[in-house]
This record gives sequence, C-alpha cells and structure tokens, in this order.
Amino acid sequence: MLTQLVQGLHDMGVELQRSQLDSFEAYRDELMRWNQRVNLTAITDPAEIETRHFLDSLTLLYALQGWRQTGSGLRMIDIGSGAGFPGIPVKLVLPDMRLTLLEATGKKVEFLSHMVALLGLRDIDVVHGRAEEVAHSPNHREAYDIAAARAVASLSTLAEVCLPFVSVGGLFVALKKGGIKAEVEDSRAAITRVGGEEARLLEVPLPQLSDGRYLVCSTKAYPSPLQYPRRTGIPFKRPL
Ligand code: SAM
Repeated sequence: MLTQLVQGLHDMGVELQRSQLDSFEAYRDELMRWNQRVNLTAITDPAEIETRHFLDSLTLLYALQGWRQTGSGLRMIDIGSGAGFPGIPVKLVLPDMRLTLLEATGKKVEFLSHMVALLGLRDIDVVHGRAEEVAHSPNHREAYDIAAARAVASLSTLAEVCLPFVSVGGLFVALKKGGIKAEVEDSRAAITRVGGEEARLLEVPLPQLSDGRYLVCSTKAYPSPLQYPRRTGIPFKRPL
C-alpha cells in the first residue's frame, strides 16, 4: 500500500514511520468518502490521490532544505488549501511545524477541520476566509516562514496574495505544472512590488511526477507595502 508515495519519498531522502503511513491512508479514504457528496477533488482514483495529491504536495520539501532538519518552530501557511494540499501532507511528514490552512469555501473548511480532528493533528489552524482580507490581519501579516499555494491562481496574483504573509527572510513557494517560464517572466514586477526576490525555479526530479512540475520560490527581501494585497477579487481580476 502507498508504494508510489513511499518510493517517491525515499527518492527524496525521507522515510515514513508506520503511524505516518496510517495517517496518509486514513486521509485518502476520508477524502474519497467525502468526495461522494462534497466536490473536493476531480481526482478519484486512489493511486492518483497518492501521486498527484500526496507526493505532489510533498515536493514542497525540496524548497525547505534549510528548514527540514529543524522542523520544529517552522511556521507555514497554505493559501487556498482546498482539501488540504499541499499543507496536510507536509504536516504529516514534518509534525513539529505550525501550520495554517486558509480556505475561502465553507464546505472545504468543514472537511479540513474534520480531517485535522480525525488525524489528531496539533499546532494546526484552519482559517475560513479570503487571502486578500486575512493578509491584512495583524495575526497573519508577515507571520510565516513559508507561504505555499498550489493550483490557486497565476504567479502574479499569487505573489500579491501570498508574499504579505511571509516574514522577511522567509519563502513564498508556488507548486506549478507545465509551461511555467513565461508565467515566471510575467510575474517579475509583481513579485518585486510585494517584497520578493527574483523567483527561482526548481524542477521536480521524481519519475512518478514526470509531467513537468516546478516549485517557484521567492525569498522575502523587504516588508510588503501595506496596500497589498488589494481588495477582494482585484489581484485575481487585475494582476499587478
Ligand atoms: N490547493 C488545493 C489543491 O492543490 O488541491 C486546492 C486547489 S483549488 C483549485 C483552489 C482553492 O483555492 C479552492 O478551494 C478555492 O476555494 C481557494 N481559493 C481561491 N481563491 C482564494 C482566496 N482568495 N483566498 C482563499 N482561498 C481561495
């Protein structure tokens, strides 16, 4: 069971304990059960959940090289988490991290809260809200070492809604698939405007995910100007 996940993680230098594998199995089974009545994911095949959700989320570990050893104290926010990706798989591998899952849709928030309880996860908050608003709250602004997002928006939009959550010296990471170079080029100005350094691209080297997946990473160089993100919807409609 979970052979692809175990092999992929092994290739990344990570070995899971039995209890962690049990958690991944419980997560997969509950996701499939809920997905019959709540639209959480278009991926319904268990083997694909393993690779395209779990392993793909865990490629984020490539961007966390410096933090991986210490794990504890790492603060991460997953923006537009949906059914928990990439946040929950990363938390299952790095249990000492402090994780916030931010999601705008109520039904998905319900699922996330349910999963957190079912898996007995600690040091994890589920926040129901829009990134454009939550990023202006003093509890969240520049309060994280890592802000990550997968399949939420274009890089320019993501830069505006994610970088304000990151403290100076921390990292914004977008998990992306295919045709990314033009998007990176288009996002240069937006990233600089909200305080990020020029984006770096890491190509995912795993054979299980050989369809051109990348991590786009930008280190926070200076505080984000207070006007960003702009009001709800604008970063999506009119990217910087
Ligand atoms: N990250 C998950 C994944 O990779 O499977 C979910 C991707 S889903 C396509 C995009 C998610 O982002 C949706 O659940 C949506 O509700 C959420 N979302 C979109 N805009 C958002 C915003 N401004 N603030 C918070 N969540 C948002």
